[in-house]
Amino acid sequence: MELEGKRVLVVGLARTGIGVVRFLAEHRARVMVTDIQSADELRPYLSEITGLNVGTELGEHRIETFLNSDLIVVSPGIPLSIEPIAAAREKGIEVISEIELACRFIRDPIIGVTGTNGKTTTTILIGDVLKVSGKKVFVGGNVGNPLIDCAGRGKWDYVVAEISSFQLEGIHEFRPHIALMLNITEDHLDRYPHYEEYAEAKFRIFLNQRSSDFAVLNADDRTINVMSSEIRARRWFFSLTSPLKVGAFFNRDSLIYRDPKGKVERFKLAKVPLRGIHNIENMLSVVATAKICSCPQEAIQTALESFRGLPHRLEFVRELDGVSFYNDSKGTNVGSVVKSLMSFQEPIILIAGGKDKGGDYGPLKGIVKERVKRLILIGEARRRLAKALGGSVPTTETDTLEEAVHRAFDQSKHGDVVLLSPACSSFDMFQDYEERGNFFKEIVNQLDRENRNGDRKP
Ligand code: ADP
Repeated sequence: MELEGKRVLVVGLARTGIGVVRFLAEHRARVMVTDIQSADELRPYLSEITGLNVGTELGEHRIETFLNSDLIVVSPGIPLSIEPIAAAREKGIEVISEIELACRFIRDPIIGVTGTNGKTTTTILIGDVLKVSGKKVFVGGNVGNPLIDCAGRGKWDYVVAEISSFQLEGIHEFRPHIALMLNITEDHLDRYPHYEEYAEAKFRIFLNQRSSDFAVLNADDRTINVMSSEIRARRWFFSLTSPLKVGAFFNRDSLIYRDPKGKVERFKLAKVPLRGIHNIENMLSVVATAKICSCPQEAIQTALESFRGLPHRLEFVRELDGVSFYNDSKGTNVGSVVKSLMSFQEPIILIAGGKDKGGDYGPLKGIVKERVKRLILIGEARRRLAKALGGSVPTTETDTLEEAVHRAFDQSKHGDVVLLSPACSSFDMFQDYEERGNFFKEIVNQLDRENRNGDRKP
């Protein structure tokens, strides 16, 4: 792809946008960057591109700017449906996502990880397994460094990338050698009109694969099963619930991998620190991928035993008076909360709520009734959550996360779990899920058993 002298517009200047701008400038494109946030809001990012010969249009998107471009590269958070992008596409201007631009300059095999939940955990763990196996890997995409940061900058055995459905909307040639589809459950219905459109966007990860490529698929997921017949690549399955003739599956205390010749490898879970059944699914997908990449059994076992999980994903915070506190701030949709609730045998006090994404909370009702002893609701979505779930268990609504944590502690007993797993995004009260999770941890760490049961200092 020739970029020299081309008028390229970069839409969105966050971390990915910066990577794209730098890459394009290095390739001597005529770069313009536009963002609806003001220069003031973008100050930290702008400082990273000073000195580069780049035009900026901040605080607005002008249609002419889009129409006067030869190529438009869109950052992950921006919908392709916004008016100026739609107008440019109508005029025949090429609109692509960052991963599409990157893949045109990456010669090494890409492992692309997508799904509604578990992408980051799985991406990092695949990277670890490959590294322990002695391979040279780049790990990035939606986590860490954007994919563009490795384009044309070195040689890797594998490039492992976390990929969102938003990025997949803007691909034409992107072709992972191994594509993982972890699960598909309802999410982002504020951005997609229906569940079907969301699932179709995710399935675009298989669009350009050939018969020499691999698709690693969750055999237990209904939507994936229905849609997988369209896939051209070789299909490798993993299953939490049933043994497979070929693939990775769970068997009481181990993960089992059976290759097409019937050879079996067993990975013991006794010393694996990762908690939760969803993480067993994630690890199964990792094992299947690692075996496609011919990683040795011992290397896989070592990597699984060394991985302690990521912050804000079912993260243990502390125990106080026999009550265990877990931070699952990244649990931003119903599917992930269901899995988090299924991961505990103990009675749970669940703190949920945040910014409403317009999905159906109904699927939570059964599991909440079964596992949750008390529900504490916060944020913009609390009314709708209360309507969907209230009545099944004692429910309290609070104005702040701080109050929610104190209430949870006050109402807990020895042996309970207090879990923040919101089923919503955080943008009504916090900058992002990390800020929410860190704040939760801060409050939990300040809890004092002396001041329990309302006897709190002001
Ligand atoms: P993603 O990058 O897809 O958002 P993460 O690894 O960051 O995934 O995890 C996000 C949330 O989803 C966390 O609450 C985590 O506990 C939960 N989760 C992780 N893996 C799975 C899975 N396979 N199925 C359902 N929920 C999961």
